[in-house]
Amino acid sequence: MPQERLPHGSASAGTDTPLTSGLPLSYQDIGHIEFWLFDLDNTLYPGTSSLFPQIDVRMKTFIAEFLGLSPEDAFALQKKYYHQYGTSLRGLMLHHNLEPDAFLDYVHDIDHGVLDPNPALSTAIEDLPGRKLIFTNGSERHAEAVLDRLGLGHHFEGIFDIKAADFLPKPQIETYHKMVSRHNVVAQKSAFFEDSHLNLKPAAEMGMTTVLVRCGPDHAPIAMTAESDLSHCNYITDDLYNWLNTANHLLRSGAF
Ligand SMILES: [Mg+2]
Repeated sequence: MPQERLPHGSASAGTDTPLTSGLPLSYQDIGHIEFWLFDLDNTLYPGTSSLFPQIDVRMKTFIAEFLGLSPEDAFALQKKYYHQYGTSLRGLMLHHNLEPDAFLDYVHDIDHGVLDPNPALSTAIEDLPGRKLIFTNGSERHAEAVLDRLGLGHHFEGIFDIKAADFLPKPQIETYHKMVSRHNVVAQKSAFFEDSHLNLKPAAEMGMTTVLVRCGPDHAPIAMTAESDLSHCNYITDDLYNWLNTANHLLRSGAF
């Protein structure tokens, strides 16, 4: 089974955790969802894609040139800031007075053509009843390019990007409140899909239903040592399409 439901407070939630109930019961808490919020990178496309590594390389190159560092030192600083602040950009802005637009334009100047259209995921998202938004630590321009390539852009009424967040990235809870306010989202009626379990913590605190999407190498600030505490993740799936498809089936069948 690709999906699992885990109650808040569950002691552990690794991918090996067995289902605690049958399929309908595992989705018993989604009947109230009216807002479907999606992270972008490594959530709507697999972490195994060669897209995100391109961004990683360009960040390193930018930082090396910007600060006059060796590629190795630039990479170390990039990861340090990423884990410390949620994005490398945030650390560069705080400590080096970086102008964010130049950085974002540079690191997102990549070949989005490595992504394949995903018509199955498109159908699954289209069938979800309610409003749909992208909530990303990347730029709107990058999100639009990714969504366009995947064939998903027309499903989303808005993109709340890092600029809309005043460059304060997830998992800073102020940014979640800002997103909810900006788009008139009701947190308690929202489901949030993310590949970073840390980014799901504030969502859970606000009453959102949280779905951890694990579909490849983890680029998010999630240390393996933190694997034991996923108690804030209501669901864990390694197959977003299958999760949504099952949810749609149950929602349409009046299971709730
Ligand atoms: Mg992500």
